[in-house]
Amino acid sequence: MKKHDCIIIGSGPAGYTAAIYAARADLKPIMYMGLQPGGQLTTTTEVDNFPGYAAGVDGNAMMDDLKNQAERFGTEVRFGLVTKASLNSKKGGYHTLTIDEGHHIQARTVIIATGASAKYLGLPSEQKFMGFGVSACAVCDGFFYKGQDVVVVGGGDTAAEEATYLAKLCPKVTLLVRRDEMRASKAMQNRVMATKNIEVLWDTETLDLLGDDKGLTTVRVKNRKTSETTDIPATGFFVAIGHKPNTDIFKGQIDMDEAGYIKTQSDSTATNYPGVFCSGDAQDKIYRQAVTAAGTGCMAALESERYLAALGH
Ligand code: NDP
Repeated sequence: MKKHDCIIIGSGPAGYTAAIYAARADLKPIMYMGLQPGGQLTTTTEVDNFPGYAAGVDGNAMMDDLKNQAERFGTEVRFGLVTKASLNSKKGGYHTLTIDEGHHIQARTVIIATGASAKYLGLPSEQKFMGFGVSACAVCDGFFYKGQDVVVVGGGDTAAEEATYLAKLCPKVTLLVRRDEMRASKAMQNRVMATKNIEVLWDTETLDLLGDDKGLTTVRVKNRKTSETTDIPATGFFVAIGHKPNTDIFKGQIDMDEAGYIKTQSDSTATNYPGVFCSGDAQDKIYRQAVTAAGTGCMAALESERYLAALGH
């Protein structure tokens, strides 16, 4: 089995920043890109808050820049999903990763940068209409609903952003908020309220999604205060209720909290396994920003370098 110094799992801002630093430190990192090469930013249109892009940048273009930068220093970027991890609890030992349920690869340091994925409501009908009305990414799928009425569920910044994005394409957007207030920032809420074709339904939960063999036609909702049920005609249903860290493959090995966020030591990206570091949204439930992910990616690479140096690398 091929043995390496450093494997990076995930290709978002955390993974690529780790790759840039690890490659420059001559760790010859191998990166597995995972199911969504480029990570969550590839589902965003404009990124306005990443330092260095004075005029903003398209999410895909930014991830291409990061990939090119990581490859310039020798990172080997591979397609593939890590489907199993057998971590070694001995200092200096090799960790074994299974790629695409097939071949194995070993490394003395592993940088986890697997990010997080969108959450769904859990309704059976949500699965039924997945891709035929149900989506968790307005930027990816909104175009398919151009000229049609849609519903967005959620009360955070993502829901506010998705609703305002869709309002540019769709005649009417109904935003379902389960409480009588939104969690989104004031600025985002103001944008929602100022958009004429967004209707906010407060205290509203989704009961069911109905449709025919062509796809979704109706969203059935209930007002939690009055118990009144309403059928909203819509062909698109966009779920924007938060994210879940992509850490299932490490369950039972790495210490994590009840939501699945990997626990790292304070001021460090070290996990409870020697040589295994975690960066980005897989360990951060507070900031969840591209720039903070990049920062912890940098930390993880520097800590990998020091770990290997202490082993005589
Ligand atoms: P959040 O966790 O902030 O919000 C989730 C929202 O979904 C809440 O309003 C929550 O309601 C609601 N919700 C959760 N579960 C359900 C459910 N089962 N049914 C109905 N509603 C539900 O997630 P976001 O993805 O919005 O944001 C994550 C982070 O990313 C935040 O820190 C946010 O600020 C940031 N972000 C920043 C952006 C920007 O700056 N441009 C853009 C997008 C995100 P309740 O409030 O009742 O819990």
